[in-house]
Amino acid sequence: PVPAVRADRTSAPTWAERHVRGGEVSVQGVSKSYGSLRVLDDVCLTAPAGSVTVILGPSGSGKSTLLRSINHLERVDSGFISVDGELIGYRRQGDLLYELAEREVLQRRADVGMVFQNFNLFPHLTVLENLIEAPMAVRGLPRDEAEGLARELLVRVGLADKAGAFPRQLSGGQQQRVAIARALALKPKVLLFDEPTSALDPELVGEVLDVIKELARSGTTLLIVTHEIGFAREVADTVVFMEHGRILESGAPEQLFTAPRHSRTAAFLDKVL
Ligand code: ADP
Ligand code: MG
Repeated sequence: PVPAVRADRTSAPTWAERHVRGGEVSVQGVSKSYGSLRVLDDVCLTAPAGSVTVILGPSGSGKSTLLRSINHLERVDSGFISVDGELIGYRRQGDLLYELAEREVLQRRADVGMVFQNFNLFPHLTVLENLIEAPMAVRGLPRDEAEGLARELLVRVGLADKAGAFPRQLSGGQQQRVAIARALALKPKVLLFDEPTSALDPELVGEVLDVIKELARSGTTLLIVTHEIGFAREVADTVVFMEHGRILESGAPEQLFTAPRHSRTAAFLDKVL
């Protein structure tokens, strides 16, 4: 049993409190090719429940493909991925594995939220409508409950006054915070961020990173592709460096940033730091 969180607490949640909310992500021996190009090459990665993993690597190294595979958007050629103990794409029955039907994939995908570089909000829907659509369609929430949840999330990302705005009326930073709230509205066990600040003007990066930092303390398992090294140092439990579809090394931020084991990691860090 985990102690209840006191409403008046100001300290960060304990590890046990964090642990109980997120789900573990496990990637075991995953490979994937497009034609003759091997974009994931025997990737192994374990992100414990509630942990924060930052994934670094040059363009084309397979970072997005890895995140998309964890979110059921890509089919891998070999190896297995599980989220919170459930295999991606398969259902276990005794010793046998059955492929999931499309409907089951949609249900499972709701456990994994994803935030993209370009926000991907529905342009013709208001902020509130963007936030209630999936909870109603996927989780079957009644409208009033979905709206209540959406308004709570807007407070959490600092946009309580923007419920009626359309995406085009918001700055990039505000749109990305709406996109994060939208991902949270499905109460995912795992949140994936694919370069969430790369499309933003520099002065808007901080407000988005602040929201992610707050999430990092809240117990959702986070996997974040980003080149924001200062941010990674602050929030990551583990930093992973990928190149040519392989994980070249991983470690605690202190270790990886100050004493990378691999010369390729050092060369990459020299360029982004
Ligand atoms: P990253 O996110 O690290 O930049 P990606 O995962 O997007 O890398 O891409 C890895 C490699 O796979 C790149 O060489 C890219 O061109 C290629 N690739 C990605 N998606 C496809 C696709 N749908 N068809 C063919 N090649 C692809
Ligand atoms: Mg990418």
